[in-house]
Amino acid sequence: MDWIPFNKPYLTGNELSYVQDAVREGKISSNGKYTQLCQNFFQKRYKFGKCFLTTSCTDALEMATLLISIKPGDEVILPSYTFVSTANAFALRGAKLIFVDSRKDHPGIDEDKIEDLITNKTKVIVPVHYGGVACDMDKIMALAAKYQLIVVEDAAHAIDSFYIGKDGVKKALGSIGHFATFSFHETKNITSGEGGMLVINDSQYLNRAEIIWEKGTNRSSLFRQEVKKYEWLDLGSSYAPSEILAAFLWAQLENLQDIQKVRLNHWNTYYEKFENWAFEKKINLPIQLQYTTRNGHMFYLVLKSENQRQKIIDRLKEKNILAVFHYLSLHKSPFFNSKHDGRILPEADRYSENLLRLPFYYTLSKNEIQHITEIVKTQF
Ligand SMILES: *Cc1c(COP(=O)(O)O)cnc(C)c1O
Repeated sequence: MDWIPFNKPYLTGNELSYVQDAVREGKISSNGKYTQLCQNFFQKRYKFGKCFLTTSCTDALEMATLLISIKPGDEVILPSYTFVSTANAFALRGAKLIFVDSRKDHPGIDEDKIEDLITNKTKVIVPVHYGGVACDMDKIMALAAKYQLIVVEDAAHAIDSFYIGKDGVKKALGSIGHFATFSFHETKNITSGEGGMLVINDSQYLNRAEIIWEKGTNRSSLFRQEVKKYEWLDLGSSYAPSEILAAFLWAQLENLQDIQKVRLNHWNTYYEKFENWAFEKKINLPIQLQYTTRNGHMFYLVLKSENQRQKIIDRLKEKNILAVFHYLSLHKSPFFNSKHDGRILPEADRYSENLLRLPFYYTLSKNEIQHITEIVKTQF
């Protein structure tokens, strides 16, 4: 069989013609027709608050920290098992990072370990919906209400996935916290190569958001002809992506339903092929929690040791298949190790050592998935 990479960006077919259209219309800087189309799509489909496209999820997180006015000494509670950007955004503003362990049954933040870490300096909780599996948002929002904290959902993996609350209401991930951030990096379900979005569900932040997004100016007011000239009003930066990227993203969004259907099929195929075997060998597959849907973002195994994981990676590589591990606990990273408060976070470390992600992309075939699962199984 041919080389099977870990990821292949999928093109729906209209990307280049929309990019061409943006170029032909002569509007290729930010906040034009395609940016509006994408933002409105999200607001309508997922009942998000106001959406701002950004150049990455990293940027969306950084924009959120400006909006929240994070200051040196503010404490932020976040999982150790996450991408560096979740942490960096707050570290850049001088916040103190309080890392939390993962759940035993899932790499996401252990919701029951958060409350003990809250102090009078705590300002924000950042749940990361790992693999599109929701954190228990009822628990997290209740803590936020009790201690008056702000919740920023890192929903980089979580497009088109939902949380089902105790009240039975199904809410899109990204619509629940005060803020949510998404990624359209090429490894995510929907992509513009690099790209992201900040969702603002708490309307008190809207005026400043528009200004921060426009480099600290009221240029958006000028566009709406509310003012005659635009001025420097606040901190800000260059967060808005070019229309070229928004046009590309729009072609993907128009096909979101199809992309999601195919990806969920892949996920189910992997699951079915592994289910009995995993049970027998006591290997953990992604958890199915009753309060969350799935979105076919990734498929992984949690093996019993790092050694076992390496053997499978090597074996797959011999067969021209690339499987990869994921995050390394941030509390133990070279940058943060000496700043960490010394608590051990064994589950985060276990996922760092034992979690293995298998190839996952739109054009992966059922035969290829069958082939991959057979190679993994023969390692045991
Ligand atoms: C991918 C990812 C990011 C960063 O996204 P970019 O768009 O590449 O900046 C942030 N958080 C998590 C959990 C991610 O997986």
